[in-house]
Amino acid sequence: MRRSGERSIEVKTPAQLAVMREAGLVVAAALRAAAAAVEPGISTAELDAIAEREIRGAGAVPSFKGYHGFPATLCTSVNDQVVHGIPNSDTRLAAGDLISIDCGAIVAGWHGDAALTVSVGPVGAELADLLDACEQALWCGLARATAGARLTDISAAVEAAARSRGPFGIVEEYTGHGIGTQMHMDPPVPNYGRPGRGPVLTEGMALAVEPMLVLGDPRTRLLDDDWTVVTADGSWAAHFEHTVAITADGPWVLTAADGGAGRLGAGAGGRPSIRPVPAGARGTAGGS
Ligand code: MG
Ligand code: MG
Repeated sequence: MRRSGERSIEVKTPAQLAVMREAGLVVAAALRAAAAAVEPGISTAELDAIAEREIRGAGAVPSFKGYHGFPATLCTSVNDQVVHGIPNSDTRLAAGDLISIDCGAIVAGWHGDAALTVSVGPVGAELADLLDACEQALWCGLARATAGARLTDISAAVEAAARSRGPFGIVEEYTGHGIGTQMHMDPPVPNYGRPGRGPVLTEGMALAVEPMLVLGDPRTRLLDDDWTVVTADGSWAAHFEHTVAITADGPWVLTAADGGAGRLGAGAGGRPSIRPVPAGARGTAGGS
């Protein structure tokens, strides 16, 4: 989602990024709690309540709730739903389902946004591979979130990783985005394309990278609720997302509990940095 007119990318101070890290950790905890509760028979509304409790318990605010009228804390997208599914008490998970859980939280005006897809119990090799490929594509993109890189270096890395894993469709109609004082900011972050284009990434920028892979054709359509995005051909989808900051020390994955050290340190090419939150950072992070 774009700001109209001139494209400007918000640049955060280290203190502001520290508050975004707080928001990111709240999102990580909420996602962990919701994902841990996934089991046959649970409703997506129950998952939503778990996430909302976690976020509010941390003194943060769910960013999706009320966003352009969205009614819930999570987006819960099951099977052929790609993104933006609305939690409800009628949708109960069954063994073998896939569910994308997408969550956003605000701390002191600063946003975090992340998503993961899990299966309800074991699934076959094709679906397991879809999930793994999508998560791996995300991390390959995150590894390129470095100062001096161009924006589409991330896009190209996501696409190359996805293509290397099989004939998955890469959804093009929805993208990642800049993030900071708002959830959706410039620039859009496509999950495909040639490297070396778009703005040069600099320290203090923050992006939400969020590949969506499907087993079939990547084209989507919108359900009558005006939110839920499904694949046009009914094929099943996976969606993974993290918020990452560009720092002098490399990508800092704000919504990963370990800041990204585990995944990026394992050969993806990044130089992650785990930073403590400076005392008092909250108070210095007013608007930008
Ligand atoms: Mg999200
Ligand atoms: Mg997002």
